[in-house]
Amino acid sequence: DLTSSNVLSEAELAFEGALRPSSLSEFVGQPKVRGQLELLLKAASMQNRTPDHILLAGPPGLGKTTLAMIVAHESGQPLRMSSGPAIQHAGDLAAVLSSLVPGEVLFIDEIHRMARSAEEMLYLAMEDFRIDIMVGKGAGATSVPLDLAPFTLVGATTRSGLLPNPLRDRFGFTAHLEFYDDDDLAKVIERAAPMLDFSLDGEGIAEIAGRCRGTPRIANRLLRRVRDYSLVHGTAGDVTAVREALRLYDVDELGLDRLDRAVMNTILTRFGGGPVGLSTLAVSVGEEGETIESVVEPFLVRIGLLTRTPRGRMATQLAYRHFGIASAQESLP
Ligand code: ATP
Repeated sequence: DLTSSNVLSEAELAFEGALRPSSLSEFVGQPKVRGQLELLLKAASMQNRTPDHILLAGPPGLGKTTLAMIVAHESGQPLRMSSGPAIQHAGDLAAVLSSLVPGEVLFIDEIHRMARSAEEMLYLAMEDFRIDIMVGKGAGATSVPLDLAPFTLVGATTRSGLLPNPLRDRFGFTAHLEFYDDDDLAKVIERAAPMLDFSLDGEGIAEIAGRCRGTPRIANRLLRRVRDYSLVHGTAGDVTAVREALRLYDVDELGLDRLDRAVMNTILTRFGGGPVGLSTLAVSVGEEGETIESVVEPFLVRIGLLTRTPRGRMATQLAYRHFGIASAQESLP
């Protein structure tokens, strides 16, 4: 699936790695977050201490992993990468924490999916750079304190609301990543094209920028498919090649992917435009509620196809028009 954000091929991982900007000044867009991070890192460096823990929140593919790498790079520290699903027991986390070198940046992707027991261990680690390790079982069990090297935790989550309050409160700063506007996406594409030995004109770049769901990862992915198309058909890298390639891969003018369309179609046709509750919607499209809420909906809301109301999700008039369905409201006399 061309625009689904979570499954990456080997080639794509390598390409992403090569494309990642390594400093804040090379990072395109997100001016607010960039400014906030710059200040935080600078203050820490002036006082010769580790930067505060940082939480990065936002839909997939907006640059959370990239920013974690930049935090490490800009503070001249090594980076350790882990993820919530890989931390199933407190012991998994203890092993990582106790092996950190002083100043190291620990990145935990999808931190909201970490095991509960590990979460509790993390509270103390973040606050006091200390953990308690349980030794033995039953009545003879004792807890042994272990001092840790000072570190900076960078946590990433698709929604900060998924995190328990005590964990969220222990981050010194939460960066909310927004979808990118078309100008910034154009810059991302402009930067990536030469790395693919591909030349795409301005109109072609703008066309991809308008169809990538405001997401740099998807911009890069669409660019690769357009490059393939031009290569195979021997065409110029222009807007015609972009349109043809994206038609072939089923990416519509708004950049909606299969799941976006399934969600919208379900609301429009099966539930008469809504309101429909999240869990009903999730069952109807056969997807997890969390994915719909944190991956699919933010973009649909942002482009004005969907609204969230206390009674459930509702399609907008714009959605009826985009999908060419007559709304009950419009057909009223
Ligand atoms: P996930 O949470 O799904 O891992 P992510 O938010 O961590 O996604 P990244 O892996 O950091 O996203 O970025 C995805 C791709 O987009 C990378 O190839 C990266 O180079 C590119 N990218 C992201 N943000 C920017 C940016 N601001 N400027 C240039 N390239 C970017």
